[in-house]
Amino acid sequence: MTLLGPVEVRALAEKLGIRPTKKLGQNFVIDGGTVRRIVRVAEVTPDDVVIEIGPGLGSLTLALLPEVARVVAVEIDPALAVQLPLTVAQMDSEHADRLSVVHADALKIGVDDLPALPTALVANLPYNVSVPVLLHLLEILPSLRRGLVMVQAEVADRLAAAPGSRIYGVPSLKAAWYADVRRAGPVGRNVFWPAPNVDSGLVSLIRRDPPETSATREEVFAAVDAAFAQRRKTLRAALASWAGTAAAAEEALVRAGVEPSARGEQLGIADFARIAENRPRP
Ligand code: SAM
Repeated sequence: MTLLGPVEVRALAEKLGIRPTKKLGQNFVIDGGTVRRIVRVAEVTPDDVVIEIGPGLGSLTLALLPEVARVVAVEIDPALAVQLPLTVAQMDSEHADRLSVVHADALKIGVDDLPALPTALVANLPYNVSVPVLLHLLEILPSLRRGLVMVQAEVADRLAAAPGSRIYGVPSLKAAWYADVRRAGPVGRNVFWPAPNVDSGLVSLIRRDPPETSATREEVFAAVDAAFAQRRKTLRAALASWAGTAAAAEEALVRAGVEPSARGEQLGIADFARIAENRPRP
């Protein structure tokens, strides 16, 4: 397998006149060991249709193509989207027909924009939008069974945090609605060009059913957002405007079997599902 190293990445960027931008979170992987590790930890199979968000110059794409049925790569930068099939044709012509490139903003894609239904997400996500992209894909693509993403280390910690931890919050709860989320190892800064000024981490997601509830996902997420908008307050106080009044919030909490003096950071997603289900309706 031929992968992109520091020399190839710089040569490609120069050819395209690309100056990596912070705005698009453009840090390209220049280390073959890292992309091989991502593919290994992702546990993809030859049947998988992988969606890769932000393929960039193709570092991870080239490591994925020999291992899976298809890679659907969604890239926002037009120059990178145009170049990717050319790079793959040159470096791995044997598997070039497995690649589809979609030039789009991953935050705005719908299932109809994709040429196939992805079964796995494997990506070195653009760091400034990693959580919204992840939640958007889990929402619109029920076909996604698993994911392995590289994100900022701090975001990896937040996504995988358990109730009671200081960094547990909205991303942890919303991701837990869709999947079992775990940290899957650290990544240093020097595997990127340019090197970011933060460490990175891998996160593994395995899809599971959401908690059983008569509330909709939107209703549950609204309760989560309300609880963490004022995370220092008790749930009785934090959920007052969400429920209408503090008394209505207390009623929902008691009916859900949650102590009204508890704080959001102590609860799991199933607790929020019960709270949303018990919100007093006018
Ligand atoms: N996967 C490549 C690698 O590992 O070298 C590049 C990863 S780089 C961290 C993030 C990539 O996401 C860049 O190519 C950037 O242009 C792209 N990107 C940024 N925002 C995006 C968005 N909203 N939708 C799709 N791609 C985006």
